[in-house]
Amino acid sequence: MKTYFDSDASLDPLRNQTLAIIGYGNQGRAQALNLRDSGLSVIVGNLQDESAKQAEKDGFPVHSIPEAVERGDVLALLIPDEVQRKVYDDVIAKRLRPGQTLDFATGYNIHFGIIAPPKNIDVIMVAPRMMGAMVRSSFERGEGSPAFIAVAQDATGKALEKALAWSLGIGATRAGVVETTFAEEVELDLFQEQAFWPIILRNIVDTFEFLVEKGYPPEIVALEMYGTGEAAEIFGEMARAGLFKQMKLHSPTSRYGTLSGAQNLPFRDQLRPFMSQVLDQVRDGRFAQKWQKEQQAGYPVFKRLVAEAEAHPINEAEVRMRKLLKFKTE
Ligand code: NDP
Repeated sequence: MKTYFDSDASLDPLRNQTLAIIGYGNQGRAQALNLRDSGLSVIVGNLQDESAKQAEKDGFPVHSIPEAVERGDVLALLIPDEVQRKVYDDVIAKRLRPGQTLDFATGYNIHFGIIAPPKNIDVIMVAPRMMGAMVRSSFERGEGSPAFIAVAQDATGKALEKALAWSLGIGATRAGVVETTFAEEVELDLFQEQAFWPIILRNIVDTFEFLVEKGYPPEIVALEMYGTGEAAEIFGEMARAGLFKQMKLHSPTSRYGTLSGAQNLPFRDQLRPFMSQVLDQVRDGRFAQKWQKEQQAGYPVFKRLVAEAEAHPINEAEVRMRKLLKFKTE
């Protein structure tokens, strides 16, 4: 496994190239600002809307998406994954020139064959492992945030150098950039979203419901579980010190309770079949097909799930929880 840092990369493959950021959203804005601050030539392609106004305000040349595709040498597709195929089919595909580079921030659409670019362009991935706002703020602090990179097509023989140059430009090589594949990035990402986080989410919701049923005040239960921000700090320490090593920061009572409780969970043997099922459906493309059908139908299941989540009593408990302490809400 190879990790690249600043000294392993050069901006040269992207100098004298026009970098077209297609979609000035979370990642688009952060990456555009960082690349420009690194001295590269950046333009923005966006719909005529608020994001376009923001890009103009930030001082970028803003074009329609077709125009940006024509002007750009590297095209970073930083619009939501669900709309990339339509924008690619309707606007991008017919304008592609040999030697251009298509850059993605996730392997999803290439790996599942939803977008199939011609063989005469480079296809690279620079996938920050961080939200856009943090890609920008960590760059401004001089730290950078890590990313995965991969090459799916190397028409020019320079695809990897371009991916590294992009990583250097957005500040990712300051923290470290790990070379992976489109498949590995997307499979791990989807597995994380569909197995790892649901178990945590279910645990929080069920714990909340159980303890409220047992008579504890809802806002105190939410505060105890995650409301003070301690849980976020613990995750931070897991990254810095280690999963088990960070436990030294907790009391012996807490460590004993957590370690013995984790060994004795009655449903542990059911986790692996659940994880296998999720991973199989991610790997063989069944999830991607199901999600595409959901999009085509107008997101009926997704909308229902969001509505149910927003109606859950934990939302009300959080309002009261925030009144208990001095919360910074913005
Ligand atoms: P956003 O949702 O923030 O992107 C929005 C941008 O796409 C806006 O400029 C938006 O314009 C434009 N857009 C939306 N719909 C369309 C459309 N139909 N046609 C043209 N433009 C459209 O995206 P993200 O930054 O979250 O994601 C971009 C890529 O980065 C994705 O591949 C994602 O998987 C990846 N990624 C995202 C991360 C994150 O931090 N969110 C982390 C790592 C990777 P408008 O203003 O009109 O909405």
